[in-house]
Amino acid sequence: MINASLKTLSLALASKKISSVELTQLFLDRIERLNPTLNAFVTVDAEKSLNFARAADARIAAGNAGLLTGIPIAQKDIFCAEGWLTTCGSKMLANFVSPYDATVIRKMHSEAGMVSLGKTNMDEFAMGSSNETSFFGPVRNPWDTERVPGGSSGGSAAAVAARLAPAATGTDTGGSIRQPAALCNLTGLKPTYGVVSRYGMIAFASSLDQGGPMAASAEDCALLLNTMVGFDERDSTSLERPAEDYTLNLEKPLNGLRIGLPKEFFGEGCDAGVMAAVRAAIAEYEKLGATTVEVSLPNSHLSVPAYYVIAPAEASSNLSRFDGVRYGFRAEDYGNLDDMYMKSRAQGFGAEVKRRIMIGAYVLSHGYYDAYYLQAQRIRRLIANDFVEAFKVCDVIMGPTSPSTAFKLGEKAADPVQMYLSDIYTIAVNLAGLPGMSVPCGFAGGLPVGLQLIGNYFAEAQLLNAAHRYQLATDWHQQRPGGLA
Ligand code: GLN
Repeated sequence: MINASLKTLSLALASKKISSVELTQLFLDRIERLNPTLNAFVTVDAEKSLNFARAADARIAAGNAGLLTGIPIAQKDIFCAEGWLTTCGSKMLANFVSPYDATVIRKMHSEAGMVSLGKTNMDEFAMGSSNETSFFGPVRNPWDTERVPGGSSGGSAAAVAARLAPAATGTDTGGSIRQPAALCNLTGLKPTYGVVSRYGMIAFASSLDQGGPMAASAEDCALLLNTMVGFDERDSTSLERPAEDYTLNLEKPLNGLRIGLPKEFFGEGCDAGVMAAVRAAIAEYEKLGATTVEVSLPNSHLSVPAYYVIAPAEASSNLSRFDGVRYGFRAEDYGNLDDMYMKSRAQGFGAEVKRRIMIGAYVLSHGYYDAYYLQAQRIRRLIANDFVEAFKVCDVIMGPTSPSTAFKLGEKAADPVQMYLSDIYTIAVNLAGLPGMSVPCGFAGGLPVGLQLIGNYFAEAQLLNAAHRYQLATDWHQQRPGGLA
C-alpha cells in the first residue's frame, strides 16, 4: 500500500480492502519513523488526520465517495488550512494557526474527501531551490541524505519520494514544483497561471505563483489536478473556463506529437549526465511516434535576471503585511511603533527573504522603477512571445528540468547567484504563465534526473498524456530510494 498508485488506493478503499483510517495510520507510522531523518514535515497532527479519515470512511460506507475520498496527502505549508499551524517555513509565522482553508485545501477536504497528513517543510516564503532557507531546518533528499531535495517544495518532494505520503501539493513561482520533483524522482505539474486558485496560498510573487500536484506518476497528477482546478471568485486572477477531466486523454497514442527542442536548453551549462538522460528520453519519445524539431527561445538567457527583479518586487509588496501587528511574530522588546515594526521584521525574516525585500524595494523605488522593473516587464513579454513563436511549429517543448542532479547540503547556500541558476530552465515558464511538468527520466551518478515538458496555455491534458505514455513505456518513475526501509 505504501508504494501504491492513487488509482490502486482508490480501488482498495472502494472495495473495503483497507479503510481510510488504516491507510492513514500506515502513513502516519512511516512519518513517525522516517521524518526525524528527513525533516520533510513541519507539522503532523495524527488526531486531525484520523478525523478526516473517519469522515472519509463514513462517506465510503454511505456510497457517496469520490475517486480520491480517503486518500492521504501531504500539504505544502504555504497553504492555509483551518486549525493547522501554517508557517510558510518562516519564524514570522511559526505560531500562526490559520482560521480558514485555502481553496485548494477546501476542495481536497470537503469536495474530494482527502485526508491531510500534515504540513510539509519548505524554503522560507517559497524563496529558494534547496529547502535550506527554511526556519525549520533543511530537508534531506531520500536518495542521498547528504543532499538537498530541491526547493521550495522540498518537504513535499521528500515526503512523496520516501513514501511518507502517496502524493503532495506544491507551489511553483519559478520552478518550485518541477525542480524538487526532478531532484527526488517525482512527477510534478505547474498548471497554466490562473487555473488553480491562489486563495489562501501565502503570496510570494502573485503574478507567478501557481499551485499544483506532486506525485509518483502523471496519472496520479491528473487525478489530483481534477480536484485542484476551478474558477474561484476569491482569486481575482482565477480563470473561468469549462471543467476538464485530465484523465480522459492519458492513453492517447503519441503518433505525430511534435516535440520542440529549444537550442538554448541543449547548449552549455547542463551537467553531461543530466543531458544524456534527457536525450535518451527524447529518443524514447521518437520510438513512441513523436517527431522532434529544433526551436529557439532567444530571450531565455534573460529569464533569471528578469525574474529576480519581478519576483522580489512583488514579494516586497506582499510581505509588507507581516508587521508584527495583526498576526505572526512580534519582537518582545521594543520602544515605539516604528521600532516594533523594525524589530519584528528584522527578527522574524531570514536572510534570503530580507535580500528579496531589499531588492524589491530598490527596483520599485522612484528613479529605478523604469530602469529595472519596467525593463524586466518588457523582457517578460519578449520571453512569452518566444514561446508563442515556438508553439507555431511544435506541440510540446522538452528539455532538462534542472541543470544538475541533487547537490550537497551547503554546496550553494553561500552563493545566491549559483542557487538562482538552479531554475534556469524553469523560470521562463512562470514568466510566460505556461504549464510545465517534470517527469523522471533516468539517473546520473545514482541520482534522479527530470525531463521538463512545457505546453501551450491550457495544454495540461496534453502534457499529462505525453508524460503518461512515456511512463507506460519506462519504469524510471517507479524507482524508489533504497536504504530507508
Ligand atoms: N527558486 C526560485 C526562487 O527562489 C523559485 C522558487 C519558487 O518557485 N517558489 O525564487
